[in-house]
Amino acid sequence: MPDLIDLHCHTTASDGSLTPAELVRKARESGLKAVAVTDHDTVEGVGEALAEGERLNFEVIPGIEISAEIPSGSMHILGYFIDHTSSPLLAALRKLQDSRETRNQRIIEKLHSLHMEVSYEELLRIAGGGQVGRPHIAELLVQKGFVPSSQEAFDIYLKKGRPAYVEKFRLTPSEAIKLITRAGGMAVLAHPGSLNKSLEEVAKVVGELEAAGLKGLEVFYTEHAPEQTRGYQRIANKHHLIPTGGTDYHGDYKPGIKLGRGRGSLRIPYELLADMKKKMGR
Ligand SMILES: [Zn+2]
Ligand SMILES: [Zn+2]
Repeated sequence: MPDLIDLHCHTTASDGSLTPAELVRKARESGLKAVAVTDHDTVEGVGEALAEGERLNFEVIPGIEISAEIPSGSMHILGYFIDHTSSPLLAALRKLQDSRETRNQRIIEKLHSLHMEVSYEELLRIAGGGQVGRPHIAELLVQKGFVPSSQEAFDIYLKKGRPAYVEKFRLTPSEAIKLITRAGGMAVLAHPGSLNKSLEEVAKVVGELEAAGLKGLEVFYTEHAPEQTRGYQRIANKHHLIPTGGTDYHGDYKPGIKLGRGRGSLRIPYELLADMKKKMGR
């Protein structure tokens, strides 16, 4: 049995259910050899995870998953080995965070104009101290009896084109890649399968992102079918990108996904991490 790892995990710093320290302990208890913390648009969990890793003598990779904007929606860029104290990185993340907060306020204002009385305080209570986003607003609308389900909250009010939708400040994919690179990190295109593009189109996107400094491709991923995995592996080889892998673990918030195992069959060997370190001269 080779040594296994998980390079894509969320904590309470974004939308995962485990604290950063709990995630590290769970990775160790699950028999993994390393874990990366990759919260959405924040490095707030990184310090705690690194400290717990140090305490347990368990390898923790500081990371992030940045949501970048593309015309058809969003593209996620993972960053590994980042300096989580980098000022340009923190400044950009603060700007994303501020826009997220004003966005929530503006969504609430729109809901008021639609005669749904919900308050920011109620929203914060639902989010329980982590990042606040539309899933929490949807949950609040369900709790207050305005809609029967979160899905309907999105379909009727919150999604793009609906009356309570508000645009959000986003980075472009190349801005996200440059930010990660400037923070000493390695930029990786996350779950290419979610782009809903053909292999040829993904190869084209990868070619464009390489110019901005892309170094890896998340080939091994919970939702990738075997033929997608093979196709992305070929693209990675052709472009000399390091293949990476992760489950997109969110704890109880995505109950079907096990740490290091995805839906059961994912295996991410430590060799991938060794190759990443070699590429980054670590
Ligand atoms: Zn993602
Ligand atoms: Zn993720």
